[in-house]
Amino acid sequence: MNDERSAPLLEGGAASLVDAPTPTRQMNSGIHRNIHQLSKDVYHVLDATTDHTADTQLAAGYAMHIGGELAKATVKRDTPRQKGKLWASDIGKRCLRQHWYNFNEPQYGAKLNGYTKFKFLYGNILEEAVLYFAEEAGHTVTHPQHMVEHTLNEDWTIRGRIDGVVDGHLIDVKSTSSFGYKRYKDGITHATDSFGYIWQLGYYTQFNTIDPVPKDGGFIWIDKQNGHIKYTPVALPNRDAIIIRATNIIQAVDKSEGDVVRGYCPEPYGKSGNEKLPIGCAYCNFKQRCWRDSNGGKGLRTFLYQQGPIDFTEVKREPKCLEITT
Ligand code: SF4
Repeated sequence: MNDERSAPLLEGGAASLVDAPTPTRQMNSGIHRNIHQLSKDVYHVLDATTDHTADTQLAAGYAMHIGGELAKATVKRDTPRQKGKLWASDIGKRCLRQHWYNFNEPQYGAKLNGYTKFKFLYGNILEEAVLYFAEEAGHTVTHPQHMVEHTLNEDWTIRGRIDGVVDGHLIDVKSTSSFGYKRYKDGITHATDSFGYIWQLGYYTQFNTIDPVPKDGGFIWIDKQNGHIKYTPVALPNRDAIIIRATNIIQAVDKSEGDVVRGYCPEPYGKSGNEKLPIGCAYCNFKQRCWRDSNGGKGLRTFLYQQGPIDFTEVKREPKCLEITT
């Protein structure tokens, strides 16, 4: 899954418009591949000097899945969240206030626009591509989009679909920018995990009922700009920690807004005295609502820097670039 892909598109429950069969995912007979060699093996298949004969039946199966993703991208997605159902991606989101908005005031969330959905779509297509080439290279891919469901109590369940199991390892595919790839290619840690990927994968790894049990969990990273691929294993949270996290979310959504603290604090920007939103808030759909009391009650002020827009909660010295506050 790509690093900015929305949970509703992943796990919201709308069925694919194309009921594609699971691709024929056969391991090349007699070959036992090691997931740590995945990128080398995939690049070998793709190398212009390699004489490789594609499994066209396998490719057709993946093409059906890609067709399903294309069709699914056009489906309307504005159903409010229902109390009682958590998605696996929710476990990764550490800000309880964000959960509160999702369940109680979804009308204040920024809507998914066409180009964002298009961005998610090609992340999904890349995921299919990397799993296809993994199989062409002799790796075993099983349990694509397998549902992992856990009943927390009589009122709440957690659900989510895994990307698959490769060579016995439960994997999550993340396509990212070159900047993100550099950040993660040597392994993701809780310190670098701005989007809660580790918790989501932890849920899948701890609560799946796959037989045989996957050995562990890890990420397949794809650099969208340069085509680099890398598998990295990761140390994952245990069941108890995941249950505690889910319980905290459930309790928070039944409180009032003011009783649910923000998950992040503004951070200084340079030495100007200005303060900006941290990365955890920058991608939050509710940032305008949540920080409406910033800048003395005027709300967030957004300035367009060379590296992209930056949201300020406090401006003591006017930035020397265009203000694009909405
Ligand atoms: S803007 Fe930040 S603090 Fe507010 S809900 Fe979103 S993630 Fe939480």
